[in-house]
Amino acid sequence: MEIGIKAIGGYEEVGKNMTAVRAGDEVVILDMGLNLDRVQIHGETRTETMESLDLIEMGAIPDDTVMGDLDGEVKAIVCSHGHLDHIGAVPKLAHRYDAPIMATPFAMELIKDKISWEKRFKVENELQTVEPGKRYQVSDDLVVEFVHTKHSIPQTTTVVIHTPEGAIVYALDFRFDRNPVMEDPPDFKRLRQIGREGVICAVIECVNVETEGMSPSESVARMMVNQTLHEAENEDVGVMVTTFSSHVARIKSIVEAAEAMDRRPLLFGRSMDKYITTAEKLGIVDLPGDIGIYGHPKAREDIMRKVMKDGKENYLLIVTGHQGEPGATLTRIANETLPYEAEPEDQVVFSARRIPNPLTIANRYSMETKLRMKGARLFQDVHVSGHAGKQDLYDMIKMLQPQHLFPAHAPLDMMSGFVDLTESMGYRMGEDVHLMRNGQEMVIS
Ligand SMILES: [Zn+2]
Repeated sequence: MEIGIKAIGGYEEVGKNMTAVRAGDEVVILDMGLNLDRVQIHGETRTETMESLDLIEMGAIPDDTVMGDLDGEVKAIVCSHGHLDHIGAVPKLAHRYDAPIMATPFAMELIKDKISWEKRFKVENELQTVEPGKRYQVSDDLVVEFVHTKHSIPQTTTVVIHTPEGAIVYALDFRFDRNPVMEDPPDFKRLRQIGREGVICAVIECVNVETEGMSPSESVARMMVNQTLHEAENEDVGVMVTTFSSHVARIKSIVEAAEAMDRRPLLFGRSMDKYITTAEKLGIVDLPGDIGIYGHPKAREDIMRKVMKDGKENYLLIVTGHQGEPGATLTRIANETLPYEAEPEDQVVFSARRIPNPLTIANRYSMETKLRMKGARLFQDVHVSGHAGKQDLYDMIKMLQPQHLFPAHAPLDMMSGFVDLTESMGYRMGEDVHLMRNGQEMVIS
């Protein structure tokens, strides 16, 4: 049986991930993501009303027209986790395939939400919610397994496609967190077992391949959050923390820090509301009863007036806007378009990395300057990455022992670090390490 790996999106960039795996004449699609960067540079773009081909031309979603060259029938569309660069193009592309969409409960709720906003296409694919740790037969020959792993959003999986020739592992977006603050550590035992059973090839992220060592645990981020909030002189001032709204584990740590400071945690922003409410509904996280979640603009303004009146020192605000995104809560506070005021000595904590693209750098520069001009104290990089460091990648490859490796989820210039690493392990570029551009297929017989 011939095995083909087709790179559709995410092989020369961070964003719009999509891969097709062909085993004989059957195909499994892995992820259908969005490139948010390409959406943002077009300003007020409303993707929900746009045609797929226009979004493909913008570089916002994967160019799946190349699927026409692939000789096989799509049996399943599998999403590894709920980040937008993995599920964001589902409403635009999934309807073209007569196949179920498979995802863990948290990712599936987010997919349903995306589909509900879609104005152009009807997505009528069967939605099959799966459980981490379980295997699912998608055709006579193919079984898809979801191996529990850790990342920066709940219920992330390493997807394994079992074929009669052996396993194909899709290991994008993971870190080997042995001391997580939520959920179990990754299922190392199962990964080693899959390696012993025989792995034909693995598609592996390499966005942090230049980061030496292992990626720190989320419990390290929790310590950093606690130190920043508990040890700064902040008893009588306003405190705001901004982070990724999908990073439920981080938000849990921030909420717990707020409780320990005797401040009531308040969450602001539509996306904060969506992710946290979904996580609570599914029983993934249990936050204290006095927490306030304000997604709606009117509710947000009302509670902000109350905070200003009661005294900011009684509250801790968890807000969107860590990259200075226009319209996000922190950006609007900096712009003075909300009733909450940033004042001298107020503490603003960035529990996020700076995303190094020029648009984000400009947005963040503008917001940070405005906050500093009001006298606020900014605490940067109170954060650890959700991606694998160089030695985590080494361990993943050592556990899986794949015959072939496909690096993905990084710009091409970063791939050389992955080549260096894997050649030090006995692989050879061009023989069993394959660099692909979006649109190319590599056939392994
Ligand atoms: Zn991710």
